[in-house]
Amino acid sequence: MQFPEALKPARRICLLGDNALLARDTALQLRAAGFDVAVATQIDQLAAQEGLCCIVVAPAGSGSRLGDPACAAAVRAQCAAPVPILWLAPLDKFEARLAAARAGVEGFLARPLEIDELKARIETLVQRQDQPPCRVLVVAGNAARLDGIEEALARAGMEALRLHKPLELFATLSRHHPDAIVIDVDRPGCDGVDLAMLIRQDPAFLDLPVLVLSDDGDPAARRRAVAAGVDDFLAPPGTRADLALAVMMRVERSRALRSLIMRDGMTGLYNHVSIKEQLLREMARSKREGNPMALAMVDLDYFKKINDTYGHQVGDHVIRAIAHLLQQRLRHGDLIGRYGGEEFAVIMPGTSAAAAGRVLDDIRALFAAVRLKADDTVFHATFSAGVADLDTVGGGVEPADLFRLADEALYEAKHAGRNRVALARADGAGD
Ligand code: GH3
Ligand code: MG
Ligand code: MG
Repeated sequence: MQFPEALKPARRICLLGDNALLARDTALQLRAAGFDVAVATQIDQLAAQEGLCCIVVAPAGSGSRLGDPACAAAVRAQCAAPVPILWLAPLDKFEARLAAARAGVEGFLARPLEIDELKARIETLVQRQDQPPCRVLVVAGNAARLDGIEEALARAGMEALRLHKPLELFATLSRHHPDAIVIDVDRPGCDGVDLAMLIRQDPAFLDLPVLVLSDDGDPAARRRAVAAGVDDFLAPPGTRADLALAVMMRVERSRALRSLIMRDGMTGLYNHVSIKEQLLREMARSKREGNPMALAMVDLDYFKKINDTYGHQVGDHVIRAIAHLLQQRLRHGDLIGRYGGEEFAVIMPGTSAAAAGRVLDDIRALFAAVRLKADDTVFHATFSAGVADLDTVGGGVEPADLFRLADEALYEAKHAGRNRVALARADGAGD
């Protein structure tokens, strides 16, 4: 199927399986979910695959060629760039999980497979790669040490924000929201652990990973750091060499935890609270930078009827399908939230309502063509959307104005017959 150009291309994954039937069946289901799936039956076929964002390995059985997860190392060796590997084991065995983890496999699922779970796991692994680089605030007393830390972080692909003066610590944290902080300060009366204690006292930075570098190898210094809530206390030997790895692991964990809090469990989209927070932030940013920004409200049509006809579980499946299509087709910087049961909010920074409307209309047409299944029945579902942008709001500054206008446009789309996208009228127009 040809997808409209305004939408980003489907994510490309490779399914490596030594049972052709199983591989083909799984690939079909993943293609139906919108992934671009290549199938390989042997490890060395992976070298020819480009642009992969995930490899799914599905061994036929534990005795088959791909049965031992240790072969993940050979899988990885075929890829020019790092690609996460998801292991679909024939059985859920502790030994297999351990072998997979030791081979550096990023995800493990056992059969029988729930296709929705598989899709969600792939999406999580892919989203992890989509994350912006870690931004780390580095506080150090002297420039040479700052340079050294910055270089170590840069080598691992992280960005450093430099800070010389501990006095400016809280203002800098509030302004930049770094992913972690590394402190290398050893002044009499104020060392790294003292600063860590201050950070930990502020609830706003409770989840911020704090790493302290110190030349003090005394176990008492380490104990004091642990008591202060420091996540990692890096003292000689090997301090600098361990730093980038320690920061990376802490940031990955805190991002994963934050994502659990901010995301809706069923779809992986932002939940109601966090999409509203994102709107507040994006509106402020767009206005500050003088850029356009659109908000779309998307609501499934006649959804009660789908639930009534096919059951709640099929209804849930439809919700996941639309969520997945939005994730697949909207741009990188667009923010998608599950606003309510079968209602979604999409924030499109840098986009006017007219342009956002065109993109959503393309997605609307794609979604209407998706063949949904309930047992042996194939059916179709549609959605309607209302779009507003900052210009529509005019002088209004509150996110609530934008929600209201997008919602009114959605109502018009419903009223006009559904399965369509409507643009909001300028605030006050037609009153
Ligand atoms: P309209 O075209 O006007 O939007 O009609 P509709 O039937 O879709 O009406 P409405 O948007 O009010 O329907 C919402 C329904 O969605 C009611 C509720 O039972 C159902 N729903 C809400 N959350 C979920 C969910 O998580 N799973 C399922 N299966 N159904 C849900
Ligand atoms: Mg509805
Ligand atoms: Mg609704």
